[in-house]
Amino acid sequence: MTKPMTHPKKTDFETVRDWVFDLDNTLYPHHVNLFSQVDRNMTDYVARLLSLPHDEARQLQKQYYRDHGTTLQGLMINHRIDPNDFLEKAHEIDYTVIEPNPVLGEAIKALPGRKFIFTNGSVPHAEKTAAALGIRDHFDDIFDIVAAGYIPKPDAAAYRKFLNRSGVDTRHAAMFEDLPRNLREPKVLGMRTVLIVPPNLEYGFAEAFEQLGDETGHIDYVTEDLTGFVTSLL
Ligand SMILES: [Mg+2]
Repeated sequence: MTKPMTHPKKTDFETVRDWVFDLDNTLYPHHVNLFSQVDRNMTDYVARLLSLPHDEARQLQKQYYRDHGTTLQGLMINHRIDPNDFLEKAHEIDYTVIEPNPVLGEAIKALPGRKFIFTNGSVPHAEKTAAALGIRDHFDDIFDIVAAGYIPKPDAAAYRKFLNRSGVDTRHAAMFEDLPRNLREPKVLGMRTVLIVPPNLEYGFAEAFEQLGDETGHIDYVTEDLTGFVTSLL
């Protein structure tokens, strides 16, 4: 097993001209836990849609997530729901829990080339999140689950659609993500891959990494600190 590096080797990133960032738990820290709010809304949605008690709705929601990659995809396939209505309701959350991160904003702004958000969420969700972080203006485009035809990462088709629209040359691109599986395809495509992990894990960083097992060959770098990582590239 080759361990990913924690500090960027500048030469690795010298020719990078396109910078691709996941949104949730990547551009803001894991402890903000925005997803717990979204998760609750999705459970409520399933409960209302199918008149199920909360526990059963939750089970079904998780089953759809496992079987189809997103709850939305499962609901679309099995119940033909209106995806826009679902995305709107899922993201009726409190964004004030996000603190502005001007240092990250400046670092992203200073990176040479284009910057993208590539999310399994929606554009309005990404807009609100990025605005709360104070970094919205530093991105050239937001590619969301609607643009992906509701096919989520890590499905190769989602990346294909993203590349078609953005014109990103993967040999000169880097991707930042908190989910290891979402970096597999980027690595196959030739991108630099950076995994963001939560800081101060109880069992320590090294062990957290061991937990990933042998499935890490596609991760070039791993960091607890996106802001520090990007800053040290400048
Ligand atoms: Mg994420």
